Amino acid sequence: MLIAGRPCDAAALPILDKVFNWDYKDELYNTRRQLTTIITLACTEHDDACFCTSVGLAPDAERGSDAMLLSLGDGEYEVRPLTEKGKALFDGKLKASERGASLPSAPEKRFDAEKVRAFVKENFDSPFWPAQTLACLGCGACAYTCPTCHCFDIVDEGNIERGVRARNWDSCQFRMFTLHASGHNPRPNQPARQRQRIDHKFRIYPEKFGEILCTGCGNCTRNCPEGIGVLSVLSAL
Ligand code: SF4
Ligand code: SF4
Repeated sequence: MLIAGRPCDAAALPILDKVFNWDYKDELYNTRRQLTTIITLACTEHDDACFCTSVGLAPDAERGSDAMLLSLGDGEYEVRPLTEKGKALFDGKLKASERGASLPSAPEKRFDAEKVRAFVKENFDSPFWPAQTLACLGCGACAYTCPTCHCFDIVDEGNIERGVRARNWDSCQFRMFTLHASGHNPRPNQPARQRQRIDHKFRIYPEKFGEILCTGCGNCTRNCPEGIGVLSVLSAL
């Protein structure tokens, strides 16, 4: 069970379900999904990095949550059971009340996702990418704190006696992510890798699965040592 996750984290899971059940049904992923109950805590405040409203979500967005808690401000919570799992968990345990949580304030809409999609489609070689992302260090912090980044690598690890086939979380921000055995790298620098990150989230995934691969959580901006993240790039765009 996950308790007090944020709505923008929970919303990532139904988005990821699509890629993990597309050309192959990933049983390891699906089993964990089925066994996990997700209780989210609606946001009561936001910071400058939040932009859930720009990607169709909100501080109390219910997508991906089995139940949601909304603070009443005095240590008590309104509970909204949302799915069969959530209803089963709280069955017989809730107390009826006249009180209800007030709606949380939402961050301003910061960009138009449709315009982003059109721009990345038409501007693959634009000087916009190096101008906005040359400072990127390729550290991968944006991907590893992102609830929707899911790219992975599969490697065989071990020795002559025993070994495992391991799946490791990977990131398109690493040079080796696209490095060919020949030494050629089709994404030879960080601006090309940053462009890929935006292109995947705002054009490729929506065109393939009908979903933006971003929940506006702002983690990539908060955790980037260079203050890049998708928000600064999309705002500039
Ligand atoms: S805001 Fe950044 S970290 Fe959050 S889902 Fe979007 S790309 Fe990922
Ligand atoms: S955008 Fe920021 S967090 Fe992401 S790889 Fe570049 S420097 Fe690291």
